Amino acid sequence: MVLNIQVLDEVKICPHCKQKMSCCEAPPFHIGDGLGWGSDVLFICLNDSCTLFLNGWDQIEAQYGHHASYRYMELPGSSEGNLMMVANSDAFKACAIDKDVLLSQNERYQKEKEAVEALPSCVEKGNDQPVMFLILDEAADLASRDAALECLIKLNNISCVDPIRNHRFRDPAFEHRVNLAVAQILKANFVKECPFCFELIKAQAKKCMHCKENL
Ligand SMILES: [Zn+2]
Ligand SMILES: [Zn+2]
Repeated sequence: MVLNIQVLDEVKICPHCKQKMSCCEAPPFHIGDGLGWGSDVLFICLNDSCTLFLNGWDQIEAQYGHHASYRYMELPGSSEGNLMMVANSDAFKACAIDKDVLLSQNERYQKEKEAVEALPSCVEKGNDQPVMFLILDEAADLASRDAALECLIKLNNISCVDPIRNHRFRDPAFEHRVNLAVAQILKANFVKECPFCFELIKAQAKKCMHCKENL
């Protein structure tokens, strides 16, 4: 969803309960006429004490004979009131847009974009920052994370091992590729991980210099 963030700053007050309305992601279809809303977001009064919502149950029961109520809705930039039929008090609450969450998602996306742009020159510059950012960012595009893994091997920087080992990868297939890359880097640096304390030790060591375990 590409959203003009200023839309979220519009303050709308529900005429029924005088409470601030919530900005919600528009549902994909306009039930009724099959047309879109013409907007990515809708302002909906999600106040459970709103008189429209409280009285709606009896009104709909009497009029249509089923269990539902109304939420008051306005489109951005318009003060025309609309009624949204809801089957329970939770409807639309999951679509409410939290501006702070949206801004932090946007910030993460911008960092991902910068890291992807820095990737082609990172090996030449010896810069592992964009590489590590992409590998450790679970929300980043998988193809970009794989491209970063290729750079990681070329950079051959042993300091990458610790942050990788301290990270929990959500995608087991990607984690496997990360492990293969780490194994390659360890080998190229003539070191291995102690199976007991996980410190890096010389590849040919028979005893760990950190935990003194025999290998
Ligand atoms: Zn209201
Ligand atoms: Zn050890």
